[in-house]
Formats: sequence, structure tokens, C-alpha cells
Amino acid sequence: MGKRDYYEVLGVSRNATKDEIKKAYRKQALKYHPDKNPGDKKAEENFKEAAEAYEVLSNDEKRSRYDRFGHAGMSGASGGFGGGGMTVEDIFSSFGDIFGDAFGGFGGFSTGRKSRRVNKGTNLRVKVKLNLNEISSGTEKKIKVNKYDTCTACGGTGAADAGSLSNCQTCHGTGHVTRVTNTMLGQMQTTSVCPACGGDGKTITRKCPSCYGEGIVQKEEIIKINIPAGVARGMQMTLSGKGNAARRGGANGDLLVVIEEDEHPELIREGNDLIYNLFISVPDAILGTNVEIPTVDNNVKIKIEPGTQPGRILRLRGKGLPEVNGYGRGDLLVNVNVWIPKNMTREEAKVIEKLKESQSFIPRPDKNDKGFFERMRGYFE
Ligand SMILES: [Zn+2]
Ligand SMILES: [Zn+2]
Repeated sequence: MGKRDYYEVLGVSRNATKDEIKKAYRKQALKYHPDKNPGDKKAEENFKEAAEAYEVLSNDEKRSRYDRFGHAGMSGASGGFGGGGMTVEDIFSSFGDIFGDAFGGFGGFSTGRKSRRVNKGTNLRVKVKLNLNEISSGTEKKIKVNKYDTCTACGGTGAADAGSLSNCQTCHGTGHVTRVTNTMLGQMQTTSVCPACGGDGKTITRKCPSCYGEGIVQKEEIIKINIPAGVARGMQMTLSGKGNAARRGGANGDLLVVIEEDEHPELIREGNDLIYNLFISVPDAILGTNVEIPTVDNNVKIKIEPGTQPGRILRLRGKGLPEVNGYGRGDLLVNVNVWIPKNMTREEAKVIEKLKESQSFIPRPDKNDKGFFERMRGYFE
């Protein structure tokens, strides 16, 4: 089924101004609003169609793309609504403002609007710094937070005692007041927050002395946080309900835990892999040796084969960091460097001079050195 032209949907000309587009959309939206057409699928389709058209035509960039390429220019580009998959809730949360207060009172479809009035505590954000060892195995951290908690003296009501708490006379405890007005589109109910109680629905005659009527008090709390293995810098965990308590009852906010990383003295992290930059001596590179390599847990011994070229990368499988919430671990990559001394004694220099004449010390460039190509690819990425 082909899509209708967006200008046609809104009933405006192709050179309509932003204001004309907005007015036209408002008119369509009011006409097909789900609250005015309960259960009418066709109206809902029209309502969505108008919102999609408005979403594009109200945005300069999208509109110019649409003008040039038509609907073809819109696929995947309409900010998450692509393909017309916009729900009525999406429309309210995106364009709710355009309706003003006209639809506040029509129960059922005020989803986007009501949720804004829910009394919720604010979120708290804390940073937790971890070293690679803790990241490797996962850890439990105790952190001290300063937050708002429900006042125990009044149980969060904000009232000094039960006798000082009563339902608001103006809104009868509902927290909002409804008004009926006559408009060009017919009678409409307008709902707004009760001016007498500010939406609480309660009147307090005597305030709780501990929280001064707020229902919350500031408190220090030690919170235990279980951090899974494999987390990385910048990741954020959400502990729902562990944030600030809400004023006079309501839901707690969330605690957001942001992960930070302590740098390891020897290992470099690259995703779940670790890199260790190893230096061996010239004789060791020639004759081979055993060296100890640090990992996050302990040291491991590895063998350096005789004749190992500098720049060789040895992969120690599974010695990296675990996948967060998953299976498997990264690797530890050992980059083998050969230490070339800058200063030496006269005797040492003599030995090196002798080696110059030795056949085996003449370089033989190896075009098939796999390590070389791997390294070069890194530069070109
Ligand atoms: Zn209190
Ligand atoms: Zn009230």
C-alpha cells in the first residue's frame, strides 16, 4: 500500500510555512484524536498518518530530503519512527505539547501526559572506580551516598500526626481539577493540577517537625553494589529504586552507577583483550628464553623460541577479561620487542663489531612475515 503524500495528508501546499504546517497538523490531530474517536481504527490510522507527516514536514532537514526524494528518502531516517511504526504513545511523547491542555481530561489516552505527573524521586549518580583485577572477577563495592530517604517520623506523609492530614477540599484528594469549556470543536474537559494542594491531594494542617512537611529527610547510606565481571569504563548500571525518595510518598528514583577504571601498571586493555609490551634482550631473542608475563590474576611463564623476531605477537588464549554477562574471555596479547642498547662499554662494542662480519647476522627480509602484515594493517585501519 503506497503512502499518501505528506502535504496532502496535512492539506497544505508544498510551500507552506512552518506555522501553517503546525496549524494544519493540530487541526488533523484534533479531528482524529483517539479520545474523540474511541475504537475507530480508521481514525487512529489517520491520526498516525498526520503525526508521521508532521514529524517530517516540521523538521527542515527531513522536509528538504522528502522534497527531493519523496518517501524513498525517509526510510530509516525518521528518528525511530521509520516505516510508520509510530504508536499513539510515541505521538504524545513527541508532539504532546501541540495539544496544549485540550486533551488532559479525556481519560484513557493521556498516557504521555499523566506519567509526567507521577511523583518520583530523583535519580542519584555515583562513580565506582575498579582495577583490572576487580573487573576480571567481578566484585562487591560498598559506597556511601548522601540521599533523600522517607522520613521515619511521619512515614513520608509530611504531617505531624494522623489528625493533621486530610483530603484536599478543592480536589477531594484526587490532586487535579477538571473544567469544562466550549471550543469550536465542541465541549472539552480540561484537567489541571490542583492549585490548592499542588497535586498531592492532601492538606496538612500541622507539618512533621522532622522533615518540615516534605516527607523526606537527607541521610547517609552505605549501599552494596554487586558489579559483574567484564564491565568497562563508561558503562552504567541502574539500580532501580535505590535513588532519592519522592516528596510525600511516591516511587524512589534510581541509583545510576557509572564504571571508571584504574589504569593497570603493565597491562593495556583493548576491549576484552589485554596487551603486554614485552622487552627481551638481543641474546635472548637469538637463543630463546623463558619469561614471566603478568596477567590480571597471576604471572605466567611463556617460552620465547630461539630466533624470535621483534614485533612478534604471542596470543595467550583466555588470559584476557571475561565478557560482561556472557561466556568466554578475551586473550592476552604479548608484543615481543627486542631491547637494543643505546650505550655500551668498549668491550661490548668489540663483540658487536665482530658479529657484523658474521654471515648469520646479515638481515634476510621476510615478505611472508605474518606478524608484519598484522601490524601494518593496524596502521591503516
Ligand atoms: Zn516527616
Ligand atoms: Zn487539591
